Amino acid sequence: RSVMEKILIRQSLRMQNMQRAWQESPEGKQMLSLRRSLPAYKEKDKLLQAIAQNQVIVISGETGCGKTTQLPQYILESETESGRGAFCNIICTQPRRISAMAVSERVSTERGEPLGNTIGYKVRLEGMKGKNTHLLFCTSGILLRRLLSDRNLNGVTHVFVDEIHERGMNEDFLLIVLKELLPRRRDLRLILMSATLNAELFSNFFGGAPVIHIPGFTHPVRALFLEDVLEITGYKLTSFNQIDDYGQEKVWKTQKQLVPRKKKNQISALVEESLNKSSFEKYSSRARDSLSCWSPDCIGFNLIEAVLCHICRKERPGAVLVFMTGWEDISCLRDQVKAHPLLGDPNRVLLLTCHGSMATSEQKLIFEKPPLNVRKIVLATNMAEASITINDVVFVVDCGKAKETTYDALNNTPCLLPSWISQASARQRRGRAGRVQPGECYHLYPRCVYEAFADYQLPELLRTPLNSLCLQIKSLQVGSIGEFLSAALQPPEPLAVQNAIDFLKMIGALDEGENLTHLGEFLAMLPLDPKLGKMLIMGAIFRCFDPILTIVAGLSVRDPFLLPQDKKDLAGTAKARYSAKDYSDHMALVRAFEGWKDAEREGSAYEYCWRNFLSAQTLQAIHSLRKQFNFILRDAGLLDADAATNNRLSHNQSLVRAVICSGLFPGIASVVHRETSMSFKTMDDGQVLLYANSVNARYQTIPYPWLVFAEKVKVNTVLLRDSTGVSDSILILFGGNLSHGVQAGHLKMLEGYIDFFMDPSMAECYVKLKQELDNLLQK
Ligand code: ADP
Ligand code: MG
Repeated sequence: RSVMEKILIRQSLRMQNMQRAWQESPEGKQMLSLRRSLPAYKEKDKLLQAIAQNQVIVISGETGCGKTTQLPQYILESETESGRGAFCNIICTQPRRISAMAVSERVSTERGEPLGNTIGYKVRLEGMKGKNTHLLFCTSGILLRRLLSDRNLNGVTHVFVDEIHERGMNEDFLLIVLKELLPRRRDLRLILMSATLNAELFSNFFGGAPVIHIPGFTHPVRALFLEDVLEITGYKLTSFNQIDDYGQEKVWKTQKQLVPRKKKNQISALVEESLNKSSFEKYSSRARDSLSCWSPDCIGFNLIEAVLCHICRKERPGAVLVFMTGWEDISCLRDQVKAHPLLGDPNRVLLLTCHGSMATSEQKLIFEKPPLNVRKIVLATNMAEASITINDVVFVVDCGKAKETTYDALNNTPCLLPSWISQASARQRRGRAGRVQPGECYHLYPRCVYEAFADYQLPELLRTPLNSLCLQIKSLQVGSIGEFLSAALQPPEPLAVQNAIDFLKMIGALDEGENLTHLGEFLAMLPLDPKLGKMLIMGAIFRCFDPILTIVAGLSVRDPFLLPQDKKDLAGTAKARYSAKDYSDHMALVRAFEGWKDAEREGSAYEYCWRNFLSAQTLQAIHSLRKQFNFILRDAGLLDADAATNNRLSHNQSLVRAVICSGLFPGIASVVHRETSMSFKTMDDGQVLLYANSVNARYQTIPYPWLVFAEKVKVNTVLLRDSTGVSDSILILFGGNLSHGVQAGHLKMLEGYIDFFMDPSMAECYVKLKQELDNLLQK
């Protein structure tokens, strides 16, 4: 026997003892009986047998039946019991960080051990696992990343891919890679888990893998649609705006690719019938004129409030789960509800929120029982639809929408819009009300609209830009990107794939022959959007790392500048204070972040955020991302050990501006000055507008001919979310392909560009840095 084997045997014995001790303890016994009451338990033997006998199986079952927390645990337990615990290595993927963290925490509690021991988790840039970890919950992105460097998943015995019904991009991608891996790893077991019943699709993809359904018990849930809700609550749709709340007209327009035309007409005809016809006509003509940008208040907060009041006054006890579209909505509604005499009374209502970026402490509260006579109301995104189960929910309020990115390949623009959910999602949301007793679901849209919903949501692979994905495919060395993606469950459009390839060539991650460049290899390693990765590398090379680090971290979390619906002006003014006439949202972000660090040292961070309309939570997230990115770049050998060296040129604003440009290119818009106004044009779209909260939206003129931006979003019109002004010289030197951008010819031109080289010693630096750059690019 090898030494390794002996160690594993010894470790297995230890695991067996620990497991037995826990199962015999009073707490362990109690936990076991709780776990045995879950529907999955009845199928345990059948499942273990099926997994032993088949390389791939598909499991479907009602949300909450115990798939995620129980099934991987059954394998771990049975292996441990038979004295082989240390020989198994189980990975279970989750579509979201927060579910990976919540589930691993739950499973380790169920096993009576601290997290990071046998059970661990790993999400982007964060994790808790140790050398004894044998069941790892991670995001699907993490597993993909691991596959880049470990193509055979050596040592892994079981892979669970969870929530596949959501059809997330990473899950679809994983399935292609795993399908290709299975013949090479005959001993590897793959278990796919799904909440809804389109399991056949996945089974067929794997050549008819067996499907096991876990029958679950849920109580009946009464479905109420808008017409019923209006009657019950006595709420009147008085103004057109409130019809607008359900924005039918808007959604049909923006979702044209997604909703078949026939269905669209059907919806519009039916809505006209179900709501007062004449007012609807007036409404639609008005709506067509005023299709301004979507704002968070169009969900109809007043109606939601009316429904909540109705439940609190008239209904039996039980928690309420409200499905909203996103964090902005949730926080606006929360503020509104808090000011309400009944709903805002903490002795009667416990108001909680559930979304991707919530704090762990809040996360725990969601699962807890509220005090007697206090009603728990949880405002949630569609995260609570399937990945998180709140047991005591009896009432569900469903606004019918989810914010998702759709991708318009023709314009190569992602659209972030709340769009109608599918019938499958609506049913799923409704089902959340029947976990403990019969429930009610208030769908805030007419029944006819529900009937016109698509059966299932479009897979993410078909509705998002494929830049990162294509880069990862390339680094998997599986040949042509197009060919690889054509093996997907539902392959994306060739145009979308071509756009991504063109983009990667443009930024210098792929060469003309579609081969990964050295830069591309670095970018594939970074857990970042490729263009942000490039900006970060450039920041390191050009020795202005710190501000760039903040910008990259900010762009990859979300904007810390808040824009409350009713205080837009004040918030805009607050943000403008950070702009210091440098015409850059990105530099405003750097200043805001640095101000926050100072305030934190003085102990006034809370007040600082409040006064300046900043989200403390987001700043905190930026802070921790900065640390992580810093670590990764240092690890990759791109940073000097001495922080001062890396920041030697951080004070040079033109240089920082140039590095921003090098990362964000080809996101550029030209500034067209008119007498009293400006307009902006991107390379492909023509006219674009600036987001209202952009510092550049506050000026009448901008002393730069170009704006670079990270994100343009289509919200009826195309908006630039963030921008930085850049000069011609910066664009020539830093725009475009990294390897082409800094050519010898350019160096000669430099002498003329004094705005860039205000400091004559800079030219010298530039030449040195160019050499460094060349070294980086040389294979
Ligand atoms: P599924 O994956 O089938 O949707 P889960 O395995 O996530 O189901 O959950 C099984 C049960 O465990 C559910 O009833 C759920 O409410 C409960 N549960 C999950 N996480 C927690 C937690 N953190 N605290 C208390 N109960 C939990
Ligand atoms: Mg689950």
